[in-house]
Amino acid sequence: MASSGPEGVPAGDFSAWLHLTEASLRSGKGGADVPCGSCKGCCRSSMFVHIKPEETQTIQRIPRAHLFPAPGLPKGHVLLGYNDKGHCPMLVENTCSIYEFRPQSCRDYDCRVFAATAIPVDPQAQPEIAQRVSEWAFDYESDESREEHRIVREAAAFLNKNRDMFPQGSIPTYPVQLAALAVRVYRLFLERAAKVRKGASAISDAEIAHAILAVLSEP
Ligand code: SF4
Ligand code: SF4
Repeated sequence: MASSGPEGVPAGDFSAWLHLTEASLRSGKGGADVPCGSCKGCCRSSMFVHIKPEETQTIQRIPRAHLFPAPGLPKGHVLLGYNDKGHCPMLVENTCSIYEFRPQSCRDYDCRVFAATAIPVDPQAQPEIAQRVSEWAFDYESDESREEHRIVREAAAFLNKNRDMFPQGSIPTYPVQLAALAVRVYRLFLERAAKVRKGASAISDAEIAHAILAVLSEP
């Protein structure tokens, strides 16, 4: 675990992080540049790692015994499991033994999304990730950056509180997916806040929910 000072671990400017993360989610290309330092929290937190069939270089480097078919996904999609300590079996001496060829899911994982959205990580189930999330400290290079952080948290809270406004199962229950959805839809809340500031008629919760459903139906 990286050490942190009284100010926490620098997570970068909030707006810069948000816009990169939003673009990455929209493009589906992923790839997060997380300043993890010595933290290996996500390799040691009892997580199944999804690997797509086209990640052949990765699959070739993982012993078959550690892979099994991904439930609910087409043939060829696999999951990399974890050992009885909750560690990824490819973590050797606290280092990823296939780092150059690690799965895309590992490249995409960015626990700053929890600090951004205030969606909690279970400290019992994933203590190292929860610890790191509590340490991240975004900075704000402008008032807009601070406002965007407030809005992202508002979007996450809305999704969490208003599940009954959506068809069953459409709002993710898995925290990292819920947090990612908050990033995908925060602009709807930004627009609502701007309208309120201008004194225009407010966008209702039902209208926001309708717009979120449209985002969810995007490919
Ligand atoms: S828990 Fe966060 S900081 Fe730690 S390795 Fe994973 S992404 Fe990096
Ligand atoms: S494959 Fe490497 S980066 Fe991914 S969880 Fe395992 S040890 Fe960590």
